[in-house]
This record gives sequence, C-alpha cells and structure tokens, in this order.
Amino acid sequence: MLTPIIKADKIKKIDELTRMANNIVITCHLAPDGDALGSSTALCQILSEMGKKVHVVTPDQVPNSLTFIPGVKEVVAATRHEEFARLLFKEADLIFCLDFNAPYRIDRLEGSLVNSKAHKILIDHHLDPEIDADVIISHPEVSSTCMLLFRVICQLGWLRLVDKDVASCIYTGMMTDTGNFSYNSQDPDIYIVIAELLKRGVDKDSLYKKAFNTKTINQLKINGYAISERTYFYPDHHAALMVLDKEDLEKFNFQPGLTEGLVNVPLSVPEIHYVVYLRQADGYVKVSTRSEGDVPVNEMCSKYFNGGGHKNAAGGEFNGTMEEAIATFEKAMADFDKYVFN
Ligand code: 5GP
Ligand code: MN
Repeated sequence: MLTPIIKADKIKKIDELTRMANNIVITCHLAPDGDALGSSTALCQILSEMGKKVHVVTPDQVPNSLTFIPGVKEVVAATRHEEFARLLFKEADLIFCLDFNAPYRIDRLEGSLVNSKAHKILIDHHLDPEIDADVIISHPEVSSTCMLLFRVICQLGWLRLVDKDVASCIYTGMMTDTGNFSYNSQDPDIYIVIAELLKRGVDKDSLYKKAFNTKTINQLKINGYAISERTYFYPDHHAALMVLDKEDLEKFNFQPGLTEGLVNVPLSVPEIHYVVYLRQADGYVKVSTRSEGDVPVNEMCSKYFNGGGHKNAAGGEFNGTMEEAIATFEKAMADFDKYVFN
C-alpha cells in the first residue's frame, strides 16, 4: 500500500521501547492544533488498547474549537493540573514527543521533559529537530504529524488497532495541517491514507464542518469587522495589514482562538502576496504572518518582530506599542519589495 519511508531499525527500536514501557506520556506543542492533538490522542488510544498506562499531557488547554476530537477530554493540561502533569512526566518510562521539534515549544513542561530519565521518541514534521531522543522520526516533507504517525503505525503492524475514533483523530490532523487539503497536499500517498481511514468509518464531511465551518456569532462578527474595518491593503507592495488593538479586542470580548485562520483571508485577493496581522497582547503585540510563493515571511518575523517560523507561515512578538509595530511593518514592507517583485 504505502512505500515505507522510515528505516526498519527505527521501527524496531520503537517496538522494543513500547513493549518495555509501562508508564507512557505523550506530549505536543503549546497552543495545540488539530495535528498536535489528533496525533497525540490517536497514539494514546492505540497504546491504551495495548494495555499501557498512558496520558496525553499538554502545556496548555485544548481550545474549545477542537473538543470534538475523540479522546481529547482526557488530556491533562499543565495550565490546569500543573502538579499532576509534572508527576506524570516524573513517573514516565517512555515519552512520545509529537508535532514539535524543540523543548521550548512545550513551554512550562520544558524542564520536565529535558530532566526526565525516560526513553524518548520524537515523531514530527518541523525542520531541525533539537530534542535529545532515543528515536527521531523527523520528516519535514510530510504534510502532517498525523500522516507520519499513520506511516509509523503501518510499519509497526498496529493497523488493526486503528478503529473509527483513532482514524478520526488522524484524519483531523491531516485535514487541519493542509487547510482541508488545499496546500501541502500534493503527495498522492495522502489520498491512499484517507481511503484507509474512510474504510474505518471516518465521517469526513462532519469532521470538516466541525474543524473549519463552526463559528460562534461573536467569532463571525469579529472576523467580519477585522476584514471590513481593520484591514489595510497596499496593492503597490502586494501586502495587506490587519490590526486589532486593545479597543477592538474589548469590543468583541476577545478570547484566544477567536481570530484563528483570519490572517489567511486577504490572500484570497490575487494581488496580495503576504499578510501581516498585528494583535495587541499583554505587554506586547502578537504578530502573525502568511504568504504565498517565494515571499519568506519567516525572515520578516526574525528581522523585525522577534520571531520566526516557516517561509509561508510565521509569527513573532513585538515589544512596543501598536503604533510602533505598524511603523515597523511599513519599514519591513519597503524592505520586502525585493522579494515581491523579483
Ligand atoms: P500562527 O500565525 O499560526 O500563530 O503561527 C504560524 C507559525 O509561525 C507557527 O507554526 C510557528 O512556526 C511560527 N510562530 C508563531 N509565533 C511565533 C513566535 O512568537 N516566535 C517564533 N519563533 N515563531 C512563531
Ligand atoms: Mn503539524
């Protein structure tokens, strides 16, 4: 079915470490998304089915928008249960690190991971893995950790443990990390995996609706307001700027996740090649950027906004006022004409 891409010795080592383990922790990055949670809860259900004691431990809470993922209600979030989260790390003899590449990405749990004597297995698709693990499965060319996890499951011979719930978790991550298969989704193997997941009962249309097309009235309103009143187009520079300051956020009783995905919207205008979204946060301005083609917004974020990320999706934190952040954007935009017009 799928051509194996993971070396046999790594698969053998995962098999050995899993057989030996009794207390397993699975962890994923801060502000967990569909791929982080989908891969973690899928693996958790499989290991639990094998009779292992296993917990998914996250640095912070599961957003309301992802509570539909099977198994997510059992996740231990360190923001709510910090001591229990640390205890689970301390007792673990095996830790799976899913969908992140460096210890700082698990925020307050960084020390618990780094200081743990447990064996560690990394399964991830971000660039440059920096986790000191016994097994490192790092494939940046794979579109989601869920897709990579499915490959690991197949190669381990665990496919019989993929029931409807596990398949739904895996499908969710594959779908959310590719914008419902609208980018990073050219790999034909993705569709072979989808066929396998559908055979196990995944209701793909329902998962799409829950992940992409379910919004609160307030969410619709803040998104509409941001686009209509607070987006500035610079067609001469192929750029757009979105700004939500303190007053805007108060007006809509802003909560994290309320403007998820909003930064992508101006890219639907063909002349707009990149977008910078500035949102007032506590003591800093949160920066989120998206681009198309060869416009490296990660370079803009590292040079001007104290951040980084991927070429087409990056972010940072600006230490200054919103006015200063906007002025910095305008300076960065002039600098960026060289990419936009080459
Ligand atoms: P988002 O815009 O969805 O918050 O973030 C998109 C990507 O930008 C993330 O996957 C991450 O790689 C990167 N990113 C976002 N915020 C920051 C930040 O504050 N610092 C760094 N280094 N990268 C960030
Ligand atoms: Mn991912």
